[in-house]
Amino acid sequence: MVRFTVLASGSKGNSTVVTGGETRILVDAGLSCRELFRRMKLVDEDPATLDAIIVTHEHSDHVAGLAVTARKLGIPVYFTEATHRAWVRWLSPRKQMTYAQWLEQCRQQAAARMPDADLPVADDCDPEESNDTIELAAIAEECEPAPKKKKPELPKDPTTLPSVEYFEAGKPLQIGDISVSPFTIPHDAADPVGFVFQAEGVRMAFATDLGYIPPNVKAQLKSVDLLLLEANHDLEMLRDGPYPWSVKQRVLSRVGHLSNEAAATYLESEYDGQAAYVVLGHLSESNNLPELARITAERALNGRASLLANRLLLALQHEPLASICF
Ligand SMILES: [Zn+2]
Ligand SMILES: [Zn+2]
Repeated sequence: MVRFTVLASGSKGNSTVVTGGETRILVDAGLSCRELFRRMKLVDEDPATLDAIIVTHEHSDHVAGLAVTARKLGIPVYFTEATHRAWVRWLSPRKQMTYAQWLEQCRQQAAARMPDADLPVADDCDPEESNDTIELAAIAEECEPAPKKKKPELPKDPTTLPSVEYFEAGKPLQIGDISVSPFTIPHDAADPVGFVFQAEGVRMAFATDLGYIPPNVKAQLKSVDLLLLEANHDLEMLRDGPYPWSVKQRVLSRVGHLSNEAAATYLESEYDGQAAYVVLGHLSESNNLPELARITAERALNGRASLLANRLLLALQHEPLASICF
């Protein structure tokens, strides 16, 4: 059985379960662990049967629940090395405090270490290293509240994972019964990738978070049975919408996101029409409407008689899409 289940797609969180043979891979974990598990249950996917998580890139809408989910399930996480490094950096969110607060914290830390010593010396805090603020690692969210403990413990390293496996764009890898072909996509992250998953002769392509569709991506999207393609924004809605100018420029850039129009142009002129399912994904809630995305893509597909057999689906943000089975 080959199955493709989008749990969430959009700027507020992305996650998909790909099943082939006996293997189940979670592609991105952009929702909290709790919400991921809730959605999996909604579509009859058992979280306990997941074998691995694979990550497209380190933006928070793709990794927000990653560490907690991986730890909870005790499964490996597949990254490119650059994405893993960027994720580790990202997972040390910086909390700012005033200089006075920082001095007070140093004083308390020193006191905690040496309860009998005189207090004012903060021996491991060098004021020269600080201007007005100090950076502190934050604690990651956990799925369930930790049991109450008598003594406060140091925060767990939020980047701890059961195991990490590296892959490289352009070099296919095998995860159980599923072969995975990662390919580079143009997006403003450390080393972003899309994927083609293949199991039991079924090919499923995963292409969201890309500013445009370069030739290497077009080559990967050929002869697939399922195509998940980004339709992030309507150009007019984005231009007239609420985002600040700089963010609009970022979204529109060659390393931003694919518009409805760009997705439609690809479907109309270069897509080979082989997919039984075309799924539009990563729709912006501020700059797109599901019906606009659908109509724009439908027009493109309807323009080519040979594509009328393609089923067009929309992956949404707030609810999972029913599993697509082959
Ligand atoms: Zn992104
Ligand atoms: Zn994204």
